[in-house]
Amino acid sequence: MTTRHSVDLCVIGAGSGGLSVASAAAQLGVSVVLIEKGRMGGDCLNYGCVPSKALIAAARHAHLMGAGAAFGIAPAEAKVDFKAVHDHVHAVIAAIAPNDSVERFTGLGVTVLLEAATFKDASTVVAGDHEVAARRFVVATGSSAGVPPIEGLADVAYLTNETVFENTKLPKHLIVIGGGPIGMELAQAHRRLGSEVTVLEMFEPLAKDDPELTSVVLDAIAADGVVVRAGIKVVRVQPFRHGVRVEIEQDGETVKVDGSHLLVAAGRSPNVEGLGLEAAGIAYSKRGIEVDEGLKTTNRRVYAIGDVAGGLQFTHVANYHAGLVIRNALFRLPVKVDASVIPWVTYTDPELAHVGLTEAEARERHGDIRVLRWPYHENDRAQAERRTKGLVKVVTSRKGRILGASIVGDHAGELIHAWSLAVSAKMKIKAMTGFVAPYPTLGEINKRAAYGYYAPSLGNPWLRRVIRILAKFG
Ligand SMILES: Cc1cc2nc3c(=O)[nH]c(=O)nc-3n(C[C@H](O)[C@H](O)[C@H](O)COP(=O)(O)OP(=O)(O)OC[C@H]3O[C@@H](n4cnc5c(N)ncnc54)[C@H](O)[C@@H]3O)c2cc1C
Repeated sequence: MTTRHSVDLCVIGAGSGGLSVASAAAQLGVSVVLIEKGRMGGDCLNYGCVPSKALIAAARHAHLMGAGAAFGIAPAEAKVDFKAVHDHVHAVIAAIAPNDSVERFTGLGVTVLLEAATFKDASTVVAGDHEVAARRFVVATGSSAGVPPIEGLADVAYLTNETVFENTKLPKHLIVIGGGPIGMELAQAHRRLGSEVTVLEMFEPLAKDDPELTSVVLDAIAADGVVVRAGIKVVRVQPFRHGVRVEIEQDGETVKVDGSHLLVAAGRSPNVEGLGLEAAGIAYSKRGIEVDEGLKTTNRRVYAIGDVAGGLQFTHVANYHAGLVIRNALFRLPVKVDASVIPWVTYTDPELAHVGLTEAEARERHGDIRVLRWPYHENDRAQAERRTKGLVKVVTSRKGRILGASIVGDHAGELIHAWSLAVSAKMKIKAMTGFVAPYPTLGEINKRAAYGYYAPSLGNPWLRRVIRILAKFG
């Protein structure tokens, strides 16, 4: 028997974006149906951010055991119990899961349906035995690992982000197809936990970031012992002994790479299948659901947010989208997505973080720009921690407006916050010099980079020296 619901808001997908919309709307007294076909929490909690960061944390501990010599602490070989690492990863998921649970959302007054949702028409969604009519819909169905058309791939048992965190035995030799952030994070983590790791990348690894900074990460990953083969073509994959053989073309030669496990991390595909988007008059392509600058689809009562809406695919983007939809759908406020203020972080060691324009983008758009740099090795805290590899690079307009910043180094993901604020508040570089930074902190690197704006414009060497001294004490 069909149960009918008539509500203000129907949210499809209980991941980062959908949960944020549903909880905010429910707390504002709006009637909400939330539909989820898999696990509450979506990719981020179950197969993405959370397990990957938990695995990276375990890998860092293993690595640090062998990295104490410079501090006078004898290096020890880490003995990794991979089943226990697996359990740690799942304990972290379990610790966070209550925030995203059916119980929590039911408690907020949300009707949660654990079913697959399909549009029946422009204003009705069917989910199992339920039919939901709503004033507004939000599609937040996320994305899945893209599977490249490689000969033989379907015949081998390959891993994706949905299965790799289920491993209870350490892969002996993990081959990773894809040198993007997900591939590189997992490659380094597995290497540090004891796997041999080979990354196969068609273009350049971490190609979305500034090569001046990615080179620092790539050197560190190579020093850890990860083999990165870039500029290659994967020709075919086949089962080999108890594992897998990947045939690649590199510099005109065919090379065979044999491993015990294969991880496919070659991009993401938006989850649009089975949603009945045609029935609802919602246009989409393989890049995702088409949305306007206010996240509305071609069906004016339906919004699409997060990974399924194409664009940058991060949890904080899905949350940002959720905030915009709440403002527009519930308060009728005009909203406009501004992708230029979105930061991102790759959680390799060292971390790589970015916000705003890169140097190349800034030159193209603004022509005359200033590029400011400050290296970690000039920072006292970095010296004390012996974490001196890295730099902050800031791009400003000629007049000092902060256009973008990139950081590679320890805690880059934390240090980028200041620049994210600066970019989104359209601040000038002066603001980044006009506060007192506690000593000794890595954050002083940001301030020192900002002072660099003033130094070269001063012809007088004495004044340049004064600026350098002020930067140190100010
Ligand atoms: C390995 C990995 C590491 C990552 N690390 C980070 C990180 O460190 N930081 C970061 O910001 N981002 C990270 N991401 C990206 C992040 O996970 C996603 O950007 C984020 O989860 C997107 O949120 P979403 O709400 O769009 O989709 P999701 O969180 O994926 O939620 C979508 C939900 O919709 C459900 N669904 C799909 N179709 C239907 C249907 N027809 N009916 C009902 N339910 C449906 C799915 O089951 C899923 O639960 C990572 C991703 C991966 C894969």
